[in-house]
Amino acid sequence: MIVILIALIAAPMPGPDMSVLSRPVTGPYTHLLYSTDVPHDYDVISYDVTVEVFPAIEVLECITDVVFTPEITGLDEIRLDLVGLAVTAVSDINGSLSYSQVEDSLFITLAQPIDPGDTIWVQIDYSGTPWNEGAGGFGGFWFNTTGSGNVSYHMGVGVYTDPPSLGRVIFPCWDHPSDKAAIDFHITVPDTLYAVANGDLLSMDENGTDATLTYNWSQPQLMPTYLAAFAVSDYAVLVDSTYDWINYFVYPDDIDDALVSFQNVNLMMDQYESTYGAYPWDTKFSYVQTPKGDMEHLTQVYHIYFAINGGNNYDWLLAHEMSHHWWGNCVTEDIWTDVWLSEGFAVYSEAVWAEYYGEAAYDNYVVNDLMIPYLNSGEMFPITNPTTPAEMWSYTTYQKAGSVLHMLRHVLGDVDFYQVLHNYFEEFKYSNAYTDDFRDHVEAVTGDDIDWFFDTWLHDWGYPVYDIQYSWVQSGGDWDLTVDLEQIQTTGPVFTMPLEFLIHGASVDSLVVMWNDQAVQSSVFTVPFEPTSVEFDPGNYVLSTHLTGVEDQPLPPLLGTGALHFAPNPALQSTVLLWSGMAASDLHVGLYDLSGRKLQDWSLTESERVLDLTGVPSGMYLIEASGPGNIRQTAKLIVQD
Ligand SMILES: [Zn+2]
Repeated sequence: MIVILIALIAAPMPGPDMSVLSRPVTGPYTHLLYSTDVPHDYDVISYDVTVEVFPAIEVLECITDVVFTPEITGLDEIRLDLVGLAVTAVSDINGSLSYSQVEDSLFITLAQPIDPGDTIWVQIDYSGTPWNEGAGGFGGFWFNTTGSGNVSYHMGVGVYTDPPSLGRVIFPCWDHPSDKAAIDFHITVPDTLYAVANGDLLSMDENGTDATLTYNWSQPQLMPTYLAAFAVSDYAVLVDSTYDWINYFVYPDDIDDALVSFQNVNLMMDQYESTYGAYPWDTKFSYVQTPKGDMEHLTQVYHIYFAINGGNNYDWLLAHEMSHHWWGNCVTEDIWTDVWLSEGFAVYSEAVWAEYYGEAAYDNYVVNDLMIPYLNSGEMFPITNPTTPAEMWSYTTYQKAGSVLHMLRHVLGDVDFYQVLHNYFEEFKYSNAYTDDFRDHVEAVTGDDIDWFFDTWLHDWGYPVYDIQYSWVQSGGDWDLTVDLEQIQTTGPVFTMPLEFLIHGASVDSLVVMWNDQAVQSSVFTVPFEPTSVEFDPGNYVLSTHLTGVEDQPLPPLLGTGALHFAPNPALQSTVLLWSGMAASDLHVGLYDLSGRKLQDWSLTESERVLDLTGVPSGMYLIEASGPGNIRQTAKLIVQD
């Protein structure tokens, strides 16, 4: 899932445009009544959802059949999640059942206690105007009648809702990612409209004289409830010219644009099938044009309307959502705090798609679209422990987690890394996994303990900031190059990583590796030539920032001074320095290139915080700011043309 805020859209630029990747950071959170895991005493086998859609009055009239089996003996009541719609009757095969609807829960008293091995069917009648997250929200059911398409549609995940599963907006369900079930939809709509849902279309029936059509979509392979959805509009249905099981449901006015914007989808499918294995679903794959997006509903990605624009600048977004059909939709996180198992893998998969165009494209994507956006975010919390909706849908669980997979690929090597992904997928496909399950597969393939990597990069927070000094002396016919390295980050752990240094000579280079597991560490490398310069991490394998060769040893900033950052960043002609704890202090500020060369400096007063960047070439720089008491911090700044 990627939430795109329409208000922030400027002219779309070629390639990933991070300005459209903004995510809400605050909002009117909805805490659902059962917001923590409660005992799960039954297993749903299937849902059969019959719904008539009345767009003109914004009403759904529904009947859902739930088939389930107990996991305890003597089960006499079940609780289903349902929000916003009013239940009018509940029955089983023998007749009416008593029920009560309390906030977002439906309690049903069974006719008699049942035991494991029994299979029970209940039917719920309900109707009303369905719930959504409201203005600025994402999840829920929306009737959109103007502007970006006349569409009635559901988004199965909330960004302001905790927990975020929102299958409960359209059908009573056990709305937890771990209870997977088969889902059928029978959707009745005015006969001028088309209804699309999960799985394959089994039938489309005319209903006598009332000018309606009923679409029956069926998804027999088990899926989590948050991926169930349907959308209704006057869609044109396009069939991919390479793979006829890939379809596109688009507004009729956008057909010409769609022919261009979807022209690489077959190549993406090829790339993921060759990297991750065959598309794991027996049913269609499709994109559905919707006013909000994007959301990886199973077999039908809801793709934001303006991304179908006659260009290919949103290929990364198409790729992200397609890759969820392996990561998230098929192997699903068991708990929402492990959302990185969906989103980190999908962001990493954006780079895998870039790799279709070669290694350089992959490297470029990792640096510019994974690492830099995270480093600029200022976020400091563990990937595996987001504590609010804003932290769940964050640069940490998306771009940092994607970067972590890139780093793991480097640590393991391609063969072992993809063997791990293959084994992990095979064990947990159509099922659920935890972070530890993924770690166990890393250890099984390599035979080595990998806690040093998972404990710091996934379970702890932050990233390393390296202060690196080089010196070299002649030693007989060789040269001894000393690397003095210090990790100067003030939050998070000491990180362990193999660090590469490329030692340049006049006509020859040598790549050396330091196994860095200490906050302060020195290594000496002997090379048979006189070094001229040294390049840190030339392959961009480590999510980090660094200072090299800066004369003044930067001191770690004191706690409580807040993080140094800039707005805007990336910057054009100028940017404003922001450093909350030092707002009232005079500052000395230096601009360094990545080799540590000081290019410019400023003296800033309390009332003057603007850095004039006129004449600074586009690129990435390090800014070091220091204030009274020798409090210093460094941060990255991107300068654009
Ligand atoms: Zn996603």
